[in-house]
Amino acid sequence: MPRPISATISISSLSHNLHTVIQQLQPDSGHASQPRPKVWAVIKANAYGHDIASAVSAFHEAEGLAMLDLDEALRCRELGWRKPILLLEGCFEPGDIRLAQAHDLTLAIHCQEQLDMLAASTATSPGLDAYVKLNTGMNRLGFSLQDFPQAYREAMMLREQGVLRHVGKMTHFARADDDPEETRQQLETFNTVTAGLPGSISVCNSAATLTSGLWIKVAGDEQWVRPGICLYGSSPFADVTAGQLGLRPAMTLAAQLISVRSVDTGGAIGYGHTFRCVEPVRVGVVACGYADGYPRHAGTGTPITVAGVRTRLLGRISMDMLVADLTPVPHAAVGSPVVLWGEGGPSVDEVAAAAGTIGYELLCAVAPRVPKHIV
Ligand SMILES: *Cc1c(COP(=O)(O)O)cnc(C)c1O
Repeated sequence: MPRPISATISISSLSHNLHTVIQQLQPDSGHASQPRPKVWAVIKANAYGHDIASAVSAFHEAEGLAMLDLDEALRCRELGWRKPILLLEGCFEPGDIRLAQAHDLTLAIHCQEQLDMLAASTATSPGLDAYVKLNTGMNRLGFSLQDFPQAYREAMMLREQGVLRHVGKMTHFARADDDPEETRQQLETFNTVTAGLPGSISVCNSAATLTSGLWIKVAGDEQWVRPGICLYGSSPFADVTAGQLGLRPAMTLAAQLISVRSVDTGGAIGYGHTFRCVEPVRVGVVACGYADGYPRHAGTGTPITVAGVRTRLLGRISMDMLVADLTPVPHAAVGSPVVLWGEGGPSVDEVAAAAGTIGYELLCAVAPRVPKHIV
């Protein structure tokens, strides 16, 4: 028998989450004239660890898919995705342009080197769709406020030459999850710098998409939002749960107890003896450790569900095992089911918070050795 651990990916939860986001994008009566933004479902990093193929079949309601990796984009085409695909970091080298054109991929253009690559390319009509990216304060990718107008003009020249087809505008928010005021300022900068330049617009990540009243302030004809994390049932906000947002966990990391023992008062648990028992404790050893992608920084007290009962971790996470407190689950035994996160267990966001990180990191980090079951 293989080790009793697996990650179950729910296609219906993925679809449900996308549908929930799309519901939020219906213009209210006050803005009935503004059409619903289109959706780039972000599936980078193997669909945040959920498997590209699952995402392709679950996100059929999205108008497009967005990712970074050319290989992942080609995989989506192989899997039959015919709608647009956006490469969020654009091309890395000239050879990428030929492949992008062959597979009709949309490119972000975030630096002069990428414009130069396109200018030197042999791409021909009908050309590639592209977004010129503006840096509105994230200071990661994108043209500066000063350089953007010239970059956009160069992109429009490439369009006249047939290298590009549609040219749009994009930016990325640094604090959409925790500072709506700063986000509104970033958006205002974007609206000001791009005013009057035609083309579709893409600005909002999950947090911005789910911040009421924000996407509606994006100026322009055709808007595309770029939600990622919320599609997987994790909240982009520290103070709002995924459940409160109407999202369902798309990944359930589950394992079993492989050993049960009682530890006497004064006994300690695991490497470093970081948890010492002040009374006798019955504990269960779970077949999951940091080599499976479980965060080693999750300490004593991190929530976990054993045989349907919520309890807590004790001591340090080992490479292949961790230890759960069975005090509230006296009937637990070897073979009892354990949910590390997901359906029937704590949310991935709760575990992430206990480990001082975010749900994104945990979902992406599930190790290849954990078998995935797609349901
Ligand atoms: C990852 C990413 C997104 C999606 O972000 P979430 O916070 O997961 O919604 C959107 N746009 C860009 C450019 C990204 O890199």
